[in-house]
Amino acid sequence: MRETEAGPGGPSGHAPGVSRRDLLRLGFRGAGGLTLAGLVDVPAAWAATESMKLSEVNEFTTSCNFCSCGCGMVATVRDGKLVTMEGDVDHPVSHGSLCVKGISMFATHASPKRLGTPRYRAPGSDHWEEISWKDAAEKIARKIHKTRDENWIATEKVDGVDVPVNRTEAIAFLGGAQNTNEECYLFQKAARLLGLVFVEHQARL
Ligand code: SF4
Repeated sequence: MRETEAGPGGPSGHAPGVSRRDLLRLGFRGAGGLTLAGLVDVPAAWAATESMKLSEVNEFTTSCNFCSCGCGMVATVRDGKLVTMEGDVDHPVSHGSLCVKGISMFATHASPKRLGTPRYRAPGSDHWEEISWKDAAEKIARKIHKTRDENWIATEKVDGVDVPVNRTEAIAFLGGAQNTNEECYLFQKAARLLGLVFVEHQARL
């Protein structure tokens, strides 16, 4: 992920060539020229930028996490809060384009309908109840432990000889396009340590 200072005067952080920020700078220089001609009130113009989306923000380049195409996005953050997400015109793959899922990224991030806490539906129950992240992690860990122990395959006969295999076929692991390379590395380690052999990725389905 690359962070850039947005707004007039900040480094662009983008590859050589004319970027969106270069164009903005050209626009401000143009405004300076107009000032000399007495056509623009610069303090008033700067004051007006306070409410603009590129004022007082940091920009981060990132990738859309909805599928494996990896289209480039620019996220603008003000005071630690995400304020916009849009296609990165300088991205070598997508050149600023996003499909309808990618475009909706910001809406889903900020949606009040998005669940913020884990929910649990007990066996036989007809409703979900909110539980803490700690309780959720413990429940999952207990189920993994129990399933693994009850379905452990220590050895397998090969040509009449018992050879150690140490695996379970009762649990599968499915990764997603939103996982980073680093996360996938750790997931693989965890899955293999648990003895899982069915390890797959959403992008191959
Ligand atoms: S914008 Fe669409 S095509 Fe691009 S990565 Fe996101 S979901 Fe995939």
